[in-house]
Amino acid sequence: IIEVSNVHKDFDGKRALDDLSFSIQAGETFGFLGPSGSGKTTTIKLLTAQESYQSGRIQVFGRSVEGLRDPKQMKRIGVLTDNTGLYDRLTVEANLKLFCKLYDVSFKRIDEVLNEVGLTGEESKVVSKLSKGMRQRVTLARTILHKPELLFLDEPTSALDPVSTERIHRILRTLNEEGTTIFLTTHDMYEAERICDRVAFLNKGHIQLQGPPRELRVSHSDASITLLLKDGR
Ligand code: ATP
Repeated sequence: IIEVSNVHKDFDGKRALDDLSFSIQAGETFGFLGPSGSGKTTTIKLLTAQESYQSGRIQVFGRSVEGLRDPKQMKRIGVLTDNTGLYDRLTVEANLKLFCKLYDVSFKRIDEVLNEVGLTGEESKVVSKLSKGMRQRVTLARTILHKPELLFLDEPTSALDPVSTERIHRILRTLNEEGTTIFLTTHDMYEAERICDRVAFLNKGHIQLQGPPRELRVSHSDASITLLLKDGR
């Protein structure tokens, strides 16, 4: 569903992604791990056609990634990043209605999606009054409103408490079981082990290691994995 071959990306002459190659099969949950500044967010931007790149090739859904700029194709993906925000002063329901209009989705979907993220009955709450964990679940609800086939999540649980983190993991596992392909970034190997079929470790824009997390645990010591997640710059 995603094919990345030999991609290079520079920002003002500074290399952000260096000969990046990997592929993701439909139905997988794929984790992108790496220290701060290693290029995780940049990769999501490239895979969702929000940024261009200098060389290499990216294919999503079997065609060039630029095809995602077409509104019809765009509806096949969901993207949750720091800036996929909510309107703080509006209720949960009002927020979701706005995104229903944007994606041309029936309001009937709101009940369904609130049930999926475990927020049935919370629709009349104002977003600014929600806990961080609930807020993230509303953001996730908004991201899956249009039933995307492919979901991109940039550090979906960073700054969440363990209970909220576990809730998000459960939702992601269910979405994956129902057929959604998931690409997520994280700093946390434990998170990757809990929900990812495969992971890649990124450092300075280059993949150092990839494979199923449990296999990597066996073949690599905790210390070497910790080292991969340390800022190597
Ligand atoms: P974090 O975990 O802190 O979010 P990251 O792994 O997502 O980090 P990126 O945000 O992708 O890392 O950044 C990779 C490199 O590209 C960094 O050196 C960053 O400073 C640089 N970079 C990212 N976006 C831009 C931009 N718009 N302009 C210039 N440089 C950028």
